[in-house]
Amino acid sequence: MLATKAYAAMTSTSELKPFEINRREVGANDVLIHIHYCGICHSDLHQVRDEWKNSSFPMVPGHEIVGLVKAVGHNVKKFKLDDRVGVGCMVNSCKSCMHCMNNEEQFCVNGASFTYNSTENGEPTYGGYSSQIVVNEDFVLKIPDNLNLEEAAPLLCAGITTYAPLKQHKVNSSKLVAVAGLGGLGHIGVKIAKAMGANVAVLSRGETKRQAALDLGADEYLNISDPKAFENAEIFDLILDTVSAPHDFTAYINLLKIDGVMALVGAPPEPSPIDTMALVMRRRSLAGSLIGGIKLTQEMLDFCGKHKIVSDIELIKMDYVNKAYERLSKSDVKYRFVIDMSSL
Ligand code: NAP
Ligand code: ZN
Repeated sequence: MLATKAYAAMTSTSELKPFEINRREVGANDVLIHIHYCGICHSDLHQVRDEWKNSSFPMVPGHEIVGLVKAVGHNVKKFKLDDRVGVGCMVNSCKSCMHCMNNEEQFCVNGASFTYNSTENGEPTYGGYSSQIVVNEDFVLKIPDNLNLEEAAPLLCAGITTYAPLKQHKVNSSKLVAVAGLGGLGHIGVKIAKAMGANVAVLSRGETKRQAALDLGADEYLNISDPKAFENAEIFDLILDTVSAPHDFTAYINLLKIDGVMALVGAPPEPSPIDTMALVMRRRSLAGSLIGGIKLTQEMLDFCGKHKIVSDIELIKMDYVNKAYERLSKSDVKYRFVIDMSSL
């Protein structure tokens, strides 16, 4: 076993603190990664606080992992020492069910092994708030050479989670897209939708993020705290909803054209009611999307390399994590906290 420094939450009400975990020895198909940076996703906060009611403790969060390869097993073909690599939300799956065969491991019939708060071969998984991780090579991604590691880290979750539905719903230069919520996912969603050629609006609360949204490349800004924002119905082809808390779905849906789609990626802990008529009367759809498979994740990273898309980050030290969680819960971050793991 490889003794590994980490930060963990021991219960849903305790702060994160130093903790030691064991990583498995490097197997024939494994890659040992020295973690340099790890992003803080709102899903980390939901799970540490057990808001989805599926948390197990101790929990070492973190699924936006980047670093360098430090060892490879003897069967590993795709990676060598010192390669720049990443690990996202999954570390393994059965590789043989219909969904794995279709490169959508997130839907693995036998249950994908998520990077933390999950199990792999019966053992608990621990995430990226740690110094190193051992991962099956099929779940390791290559980071394009032209992207800074720390700014690329959030692509491993926020990037793929927004790229997947934008691609699924065929975003291109003829589409009017709105991104709801300008946080970690939302700001990367804006950049990716712009790179796909769309006209992009941001739906955000208040006026504080207006200039920032336009600076990110958005064409339009709607302050949803002002009821007037919802007066102009039937504008958008697609709304990418990244909002992390319950909100009025019906009001957003009414901003869609006929046949428009609202794709939900935000995962608020409580359900929200919907007025069916808002869908029925304009043949609109409400869709969901869950991260993305490994093949699509590599495609997204290569797309971001080509278009020079990275996250706007606040680089923090490990011991700032509890303060960062408090600020994230108030949407007070531009736009992603990334932990410098050398401070662990
Ligand atoms: P984040 O950085 O906290 O951003 C969420 C944004 O939601 C905030 O910046 C805020 O935008 C908006 N918001 C928060 N509370 C709101 C409220 N009460 N009403 C309206 N808007 C509100 O979080 P994130 O890391 O981007 O994650 C967003 C959500 O996606 C989380 O629920 C996370 O668990 C989920 N997620 C899902 C997947 C998936 O596969 N589907 C993957 C990763 C994350 P403004 O300040 O601009 O209003
Ligand atoms: Zn995430």
